Amino acid sequence: METQSGTLFQQAKDLIPGGVNSPVRACKAVGLDPPFIERAEGCFLVDVDGRRYIDYVCSWGPMILGHAHPAVIRAVERAAEKGTSYGAPTELEVAVADLIVRMVPSIEMVRMVNSGTEAAMSAVRLARGFTDRPKIIKFEGCYHGHADSLLVSAGSGVATLGIPGSPGIPEDIARHTISLPFNDKEAVTAAFDRWGPQIAAVIVEPIPANMGVVLPREGFLPFLREITRTHDALLIFDEVITGFRVGAGGAQELYGILPDLTCLGKIIGGGLPVGAYGGRREIMSRMAPEGNIYQAGTLSGNPLAMAAGLETLKRLQEPSVYDLLEKKGQMLFDGLRDAAKAAGLPVTVNAVGSLGSLFFTEGPVTDFASATAAAGERFTAFYRSMLERGVYLAPSPFEAWFVSLAHDEPEIRRTLGCAQEALRSMA
Ligand SMILES: *Cc1c(COP(=O)(O)O)cnc(C)c1O
Repeated sequence: METQSGTLFQQAKDLIPGGVNSPVRACKAVGLDPPFIERAEGCFLVDVDGRRYIDYVCSWGPMILGHAHPAVIRAVERAAEKGTSYGAPTELEVAVADLIVRMVPSIEMVRMVNSGTEAAMSAVRLARGFTDRPKIIKFEGCYHGHADSLLVSAGSGVATLGIPGSPGIPEDIARHTISLPFNDKEAVTAAFDRWGPQIAAVIVEPIPANMGVVLPREGFLPFLREITRTHDALLIFDEVITGFRVGAGGAQELYGILPDLTCLGKIIGGGLPVGAYGGRREIMSRMAPEGNIYQAGTLSGNPLAMAAGLETLKRLQEPSVYDLLEKKGQMLFDGLRDAAKAAGLPVTVNAVGSLGSLFFTEGPVTDFASATAAAGERFTAFYRSMLERGVYLAPSPFEAWFVSLAHDEPEIRRTLGCAQEALRSMA
């Protein structure tokens, strides 16, 4: 039967490469055509054919308060009435910057941009400018957006589509990116032994969430802090997902590690296009116009985006928000573990609070190699089965599940019921 989504996808494929404006959305990895979304509220999505789903993508992280949160919508409406963009400074930008500096432990100054990609790209440029060195270390399966230097052995859609890098990135640029296995201290030590004086920075997702969720081994992040300091390189935490997700101060607060620079995105825009990078004053003040390292943006600090972000961050400061998210996450991720066990399927669930993922393998999953060992038929079967039952998951084994404050016990219980049926039918 022809669906409205199917018709739109046919049209879209003729007009937009692959029919989508970001690759994973095409659902290629699970061999389906994507539902086209008509609207969203709370933890639900409704597609153009009127099908309603419990949503665990949450726009890939930003919608931590749930969709169409009334306070966020009101804030955006109020801002829009005063004009949608000025290209001049506003009070809202100061308020957002002040809140970020107070919430994120290592950030003393911050610059707003329009996406996580831009945040990571700018942080890397700043690190290179500040240290006057060319090379960066990243980790296999970590995703830092699609800037040239960072698209080497990346996670997220790059991993989903099995692309090792990307055509269009000159070898001259790629050779300055050293990609190492996550959680591997020896590999990092060896890289610093070999290229130490040339390494500007180590960039890392402190809790990688773009190869599925992987936890840092005890001591790995402190080790990165120490070795970068020893070699006068900078440590960049890409907290585009973990920022305001695993706690009000992100992973750096959770693990008590202060990076030199931090990249933010997703939640910080409350569902509008925003990114930010920030860090130590000594480093950030090297950015133009205070310093001579250049970065700019016509729509950076856009009033609508700042209004949505400010309202979202304010709500996340309310007491017990993160306890609540932790409880919801625990119920979901423990429940998934139990459901897989009851079905007799080997499954590894990695989770921190409201962020987690499920791998079809005995595990443990500690890096990109062990994450990819789990991918395959089983995930696809599970995904399809869950979608049929009205649960909307990221269509890739390399993406996380996001729980929002709008996911209440009945919806989580319903999700677990669906998972039990889906897993049993696969066993
Ligand atoms: C999503 C993501 C990015 C890129 O952000 P965009 O807004 O999609 O450009 C960068 N780093 C991490 C860790 C991400 O999850």
